[in-house]
Amino acid sequence: MSTSSFNPFEMAQKQFDQVADILDLDAATRALLRYPLREYHFSIPVRMDDGTTQVFRGFRCQHNDARGPSKGGIRFHPQETIDTVRALSMWMTWKCAVVDIPLGGGKGGVICDPHNMSMREQELLCRGWVRQIAKNVGPLSDVPAPDVMTSAQHMLWMLDEYEAIHGAKYPGFITGKPVGMGGSLGRKEATGFGVIFTLREALRELGIRPEDTTASVQGFGNVAQFAIQLYEQLGGKVICVSCWDQEDQRSYSFRRKDGIQLEKLLTITDRFGGIDKAKAQDMGYEVLDGEAWIEQEVDILIPSALENQITADNVHKISPQVKVIAEGANGPTTPEADAIIAERGIFMIPDFLANAGGVTCSYFEQVQSNMNYFWERDEVLGKLDVKMTSAFLAVSELAKKRNLYMRDAAYVISISRVAQACRDRGWV
Ligand code: GLU
Repeated sequence: MSTSSFNPFEMAQKQFDQVADILDLDAATRALLRYPLREYHFSIPVRMDDGTTQVFRGFRCQHNDARGPSKGGIRFHPQETIDTVRALSMWMTWKCAVVDIPLGGGKGGVICDPHNMSMREQELLCRGWVRQIAKNVGPLSDVPAPDVMTSAQHMLWMLDEYEAIHGAKYPGFITGKPVGMGGSLGRKEATGFGVIFTLREALRELGIRPEDTTASVQGFGNVAQFAIQLYEQLGGKVICVSCWDQEDQRSYSFRRKDGIQLEKLLTITDRFGGIDKAKAQDMGYEVLDGEAWIEQEVDILIPSALENQITADNVHKISPQVKVIAEGANGPTTPEADAIIAERGIFMIPDFLANAGGVTCSYFEQVQSNMNYFWERDEVLGKLDVKMTSAFLAVSELAKKRNLYMRDAAYVISISRVAQACRDRGWV
C-alpha cells in the first residue's frame, strides 16, 4: 500500500541504489534494474450478485526475466497500488536470485476487498484478471501464484480460464494450485516453514537454542500460521500474535504469556487470518492494541503481515531483549527503521531471503507439474530446507566477510546474479 508518506517502490529503489553503489554498477544496468521491464494495467468488469456491474483495476508487473520466466503472486487488497506491485515485483527478482532458482520477478494485484465478495464474484474476478492478460503471461514467460488474500482455489480458477483461452493443458502456468489438481504437497506450509528454516540457522549462528526463546508475530495468515507451527516444533514459544479485524477496520494483538495455543486459536480464526476477539478473551488472551506485538519482551519478532509496519515512528518500541527479526512479510521495515535496527545490532533476516520458501516451493511445483510426477511431502520440504539453508549460509558468510548488514549482503548476492544475467544476454 502506498500513502502520501510511504511509497514502497521508492523504498525498493532506495535499497537497490545503496547496493548498486556498493557493487559500483554501471549506469545502464542501474537504469534497467530500477524499473520493471514491463507493466500492465487493466480493467476487469464483474457482474455482481445483485445484478450491477463493478469494474475492478488489475495490474501485473514483470520486473526482470533475465534469469527465467517472471514469477510472483497476485494480491487482492482494497489498498493495492501500482507502486506497491512494482516494488513487490522487484523484490521477487531478488528473492528468486538469492535462492538461486531459474526465475525472474513479477507481481500482480487487484484493488478489491474479498471480505465483501461472494465466492462467485471472486471466481469471475479471477477469470476476468486472466482474460485481460492471457497473452502476456504463461509457463514460459510469467507464472503467477497466491499472495495476500488469494488462495489455491483462486489459482485453479485462473488456470482453468487460461487453459480455456489457449485450448490445452498448461499446469505450469500458475503455482499454489490445490494438491491433487497440480499443486505440490508442502506448498501451503512452504513460506512459513522457510522463515523458520532461516531463523533456525540464525539462532545457531548466534549460539541461542530455539527452546530458550520467545517470539511475537505480526499477522495470522498463511505465512504466520505455518511459521508458528514449525517454530513451536523447534521448542520456541510464541506469546503474542496480531491480526486485522475486518469489522472494526483496525488490528489487534492477542497475548498469552504462557504461549499461544495454535490449534485452538485456529478454531476461532477466519480464512483471512482474522481472530474472533470475544472468543479469544474467553480462551484467556489479553486483547491489546494492534501495535502491541512490536513492544513485547521477546527474543524474536516475526512481522508476517504487510509492508510498512516497522517504521521510524515505532522502531523505538522494540524491546532491548529482541535479538532477531525474521521478515515473513514483504517490505515490513522502512529504510529509516532498518538503519536503527542495524545500529542496534539486531540480527535481521531480510524479507526476500526469509520468505523465499514460498517461491522456492512454487518452483518445485512447476518442475513436478511439467514432469507430471509428484513428490512426497517430506521430499518437497527436505529440498526446501536444503535451498533455504544454503541461501542463508551464503548470505551470512558474505555479511561476515565483508562486514555487511544482512539485508545488504543478500542484496549484493541477488543484484550481482541478476546484473550478470543481463550482461551475459547482452542487454547491457
Ligand atoms: N507470493 C509469494 C511471495 O511473495 C510466492 C510467490 C510465488 O510462489 O511465485 O514470495
